[in-house]
Amino acid sequence: MIRRLGRFLAALALTAASTVAGVTLTAGAAQADGCYTWGRTLAQGASGEDVRQLQIRVAGYPGYGAVLTLDGAFGPATRSAVIRFQQAYGLPADGIAGPQTFNRIYALQDDDCTPANFSYPELNKCNSDWSGGAVSASTARFNALVSMWKLQAMRHALGDVAISISSSFRSYACNSAVGGASNSRHLYGDGVDLTGSPSFCRLAQQARNHGFGQILGPGYPDHNDHTHVAAVGGWSAPNCGI
Ligand SMILES: [Zn+2]
Repeated sequence: MIRRLGRFLAALALTAASTVAGVTLTAGAAQADGCYTWGRTLAQGASGEDVRQLQIRVAGYPGYGAVLTLDGAFGPATRSAVIRFQQAYGLPADGIAGPQTFNRIYALQDDDCTPANFSYPELNKCNSDWSGGAVSASTARFNALVSMWKLQAMRHALGDVAISISSSFRSYACNSAVGGASNSRHLYGDGVDLTGSPSFCRLAQQARNHGFGQILGPGYPDHNDHTHVAAVGGWSAPNCGI
């Protein structure tokens, strides 16, 4: 709590400094946030790290079969994703990320930038430092973060149901131990195995709308007891019509 208050005060100080410096804070009423605070309204044509941070948060809203590119350039695909996000939360859907959109994101995210209903430990039951996979630890951790935001969107679309994760990031050692494929996306941090309810097919079908380039589920070898989602790799869940 104290740490959180400290961050809040630090963010307030930053806001004040930015105002003094003459930066237009069109996000105005947006609350200070322990993770990331946007300092301007973003619309198509904008570019920069703040756009990229927005893209991460709306990565779960690319539309059916699409994957949003996290390139920091606010183009038509980002605008469409923002519109879908706004629609999902009952906001005016103008495709422009302003105070209302940012406040909705702030309400959804924790101080470590993960979405409210998912956490880093949940995505890494293999080790504590994300090392030993196919990419650097920081990349694996980032890839997991993006998958979490996609899952947050999917969870909301399913009626804010809890989604259970049985396995996500794996080092090569952890992957071998569970007999994972040698090129498994779990080695990259973005692969996530979903269990529990809704049904595996319901999860696989819904995942098609939320930026998962890879969906493997019932009917695909070794995937009758979970649904696997990841950033890239293609879809196959024959028993679910996928
Ligand atoms: Zn998997």
